[in-house]
Amino acid sequence: MNIVQAAGEGVPFCKTGGLADVAGALTKELARRKHNVIFVLPLYQQIDRAAHKLSPTGVVLTVRVGRATHEVPVWEKKGQYGARTYFLESPHYFDRKGLYGETPGTAFPDNDQRYIFYAKGILELCKVFDFKPDIFHGHDWQAGLIPAYVKTVYQRDPFFADAGTAFTIHNMAYQGLFPSSTFSVTGLPSTEYSPAGIEFFGQVNFLKAGLIYSDALNTVSPNYANEIQNDWNYGYGLEGVINFRRDRFRGITNGIDQDIWNPRTDPHIASHFDETRLAKKALCKADLQHAAGWKPDDKTPLVAFIGRLDAQKGIDFLIQLVPRLAKKRAQVVLLGSGDASYQEQLSELHRDFPESVFYESAFAEAFSHKIYAGADVFLMPSKFEPCGLSQMISMRYGTVPVVTPTGGLMDTVPTGTGFMSKSNSYGDYVDAVFMAMNEWTKKRAWQTRQKRIMKMDFSWGPSVQHYLDMYKDAIRWRKGSHA
Ligand code: ADP
Repeated sequence: MNIVQAAGEGVPFCKTGGLADVAGALTKELARRKHNVIFVLPLYQQIDRAAHKLSPTGVVLTVRVGRATHEVPVWEKKGQYGARTYFLESPHYFDRKGLYGETPGTAFPDNDQRYIFYAKGILELCKVFDFKPDIFHGHDWQAGLIPAYVKTVYQRDPFFADAGTAFTIHNMAYQGLFPSSTFSVTGLPSTEYSPAGIEFFGQVNFLKAGLIYSDALNTVSPNYANEIQNDWNYGYGLEGVINFRRDRFRGITNGIDQDIWNPRTDPHIASHFDETRLAKKALCKADLQHAAGWKPDDKTPLVAFIGRLDAQKGIDFLIQLVPRLAKKRAQVVLLGSGDASYQEQLSELHRDFPESVFYESAFAEAFSHKIYAGADVFLMPSKFEPCGLSQMISMRYGTVPVVTPTGGLMDTVPTGTGFMSKSNSYGDYVDAVFMAMNEWTKKRAWQTRQKRIMKMDFSWGPSVQHYLDMYKDAIRWRKGSHA
């Protein structure tokens, strides 16, 4: 199958969250199965051309955004199993600090233009490289316009006549909402500015475009699929649209890249280990304690959090819980950037409890590996969670997650693996954390649990098959729409 992957970020080139892990891993896994797959990314300032050995293709695309015409050099990188990643160069749009905004959680004022440019650039790229897609697979709002263009502007273009479109929602809370004036910049036919199209209560909604125009759609776990279809608390106003398209909608649980997240080979950790060599995990814990400025100490439980500092991640619970853990002589390591007030509050906890709380306000890939490997317990008190990768990564490293019963956490943390609180309340979450801490003191029971979670299969295998099934359905539905 000829497959085009489109997402605003992708491992190993650029990342702000799980979307990058998924887009990167899926590209690789599809190529591993001998599909002809290309992934297209904006050439952000953050992508180190020399380190990743990108090369210019010599091709220059012409892309129109509103009245402006852009000449766009295309760069490329051959990846594992022959997957190719192409990069659209535009200093005007992408040579900036930050992917979507100057700092995490903020947005550039011209994000509408930036991702109109991106979507149109991908379609032009296919034509110029004579890459005739069987399927376009777009992820999240940044890629939402692709199916809209395929179904309108390019509807009569024989080059894309058989191209099916699939779309994946990684988070309903981020929709790419812009003022109505954005509509004229998209270049879509005026009929599409309606509640049945891209319009959303007087605004332009890129995520909605993905939901309305794609042939098949999914989100990243069955439980979240259920939540966003039925409950306005999760659907962020788009639950009706999902419901309307429910016969084309499914949940497919994410995997993790088990080559990157592998305690047997991870280059970032102090000692390699697995379920048969758990004693070696202690060396990773000592290394993490050293990084936090503490002495090695295996008698103290080490609790960790890694994630975006956004209300979604339950940071309010962490802020209440961390001092209690510190007073109970547990150590806490926190890594995350985002909301400035959360950053300040976590820094304050670090200052108040220097012996037991360490907080790093950064996006730090290598340090995140050290934390997954060195911690005993991983906190994930999410308010909602489309799938969540951190709980799966931590389990792979024998670090026991404590999660709230929501979204993909319910699909990926079955009984007897991590700890799940009885409800989303703070009180129940604290109970679950202390239950975990209590079991940690019983070495045998703890190790049995660690061995169990380390043997769990989070590989992409089954999910890739589900995506291929979705692509086949999308192509069939696309063909059916011509009949
Ligand atoms: P989300 O996509 O909502 O941010 P996920 O759990 O799906 O959450 O994925 C988060 C990914 O981003 C994981 O790979 C996690 O390790 C990584 N991550 C989050 N914050 C940081 C950080 N500050 N430094 C390094 N990695 C981070």
